[in-house]
Amino acid sequence: MKVARFHAPGDIRLEEAPEPVARPGEVKIRVRACSTCGTDVKIYRFGHHHIRPPRVMGHEIAGEIAELGEGVTGWSPGDRVQVIAAIPCGECEECRRGHLTVCPNQESMGYHYDGGFAQFMVVPAKVLAVDGLNRVPNGVGFAEASLAEPLACVLNGQELARVGEGDDVVVVGSGPIGCLHVRLARARGAARVFLADLNAERLAMAAGLVRPDAAICSGETDVVDEVLKLTGGRGADVVITAAASGAAQQQALQMAARQGRISFFGGLPKDDPIIACDSNLVHYRELTIVGANGSSPAHNARALRLIAEGAVPVADLITRRLGLDEVMDAIDVVARGAAIKVTIEP
Ligand SMILES: [Zn+2]
Ligand SMILES: [Zn+2]
Repeated sequence: MKVARFHAPGDIRLEEAPEPVARPGEVKIRVRACSTCGTDVKIYRFGHHHIRPPRVMGHEIAGEIAELGEGVTGWSPGDRVQVIAAIPCGECEECRRGHLTVCPNQESMGYHYDGGFAQFMVVPAKVLAVDGLNRVPNGVGFAEASLAEPLACVLNGQELARVGEGDDVVVVGSGPIGCLHVRLARARGAARVFLADLNAERLAMAAGLVRPDAAICSGETDVVDEVLKLTGGRGADVVITAAASGAAQQQALQMAARQGRISFFGGLPKDDPIIACDSNLVHYRELTIVGANGSSPAHNARALRLIAEGAVPVADLITRRLGLDEVMDAIDVVARGAAIKVTIEP
């Protein structure tokens, strides 16, 4: 079979590999869609401390079951499935307390295990043990199902930031994650959702699809001023930074309303993670700053349901579909921000 394997930073190879075999407790799937994301670009450029090469990349996975390992019950060949990316251990103190997204023993598909940029892959027993294999509902395509993983992360972020009825929400960053945030905020009853990005072209492309109440180009205007203007001086109830920008995080604090919630959804470069924070702003305005680290298996299941119900449409966000041969093109398109979501269909 064909696979796209990471060997070293700057070195991803399309190779022939033997088809994997499902060992006891595992499930082998025929990958039908594996979407790319910003993390894939980061891995391509810098590698990742959890990846010991060579490793098949790809963690936004949907496909159909090809073979069951010994002892696997409840599934049949041909079943259409979506696979979680982050695998909690299910046994540590955090997992026991239900804090599955911050399990310190967390492993990931495409990092610790071969991922979905391949014609076939094996779902580890650990994934099945934490209910990380989801049945794709009828009417949901594989490409759409592959977006359940990023949507699950977005759902975790909005739960932590308590996005709800009547909120004014600002999303900073108009990539695929930003677009999912806009759609999910609306599904959760937000009153108005504003979308901001430095890059005017990318913002226009995203805004054309997800129709925010205002699109703010932070390269051309002062976002803080603009948000204050749009909210009659009050600021936004929730500000979500879906961009690797310390400046955006600092601005988020300034444009939050009293009792506002700020989600540092996107991480910062690990060599530059320190920002300036006016602590008195947090104190007097009773602000809440929350992080977000991936998603739990339950978030994946609920994300898939949101897609199936049409509460969060995702099909139109997939603006490029490429074959496995074109993985390098896909990574290039993602790096340039020239598409919203790029999905590989092996
Ligand atoms: Zn991803
Ligand atoms: Zn754990």
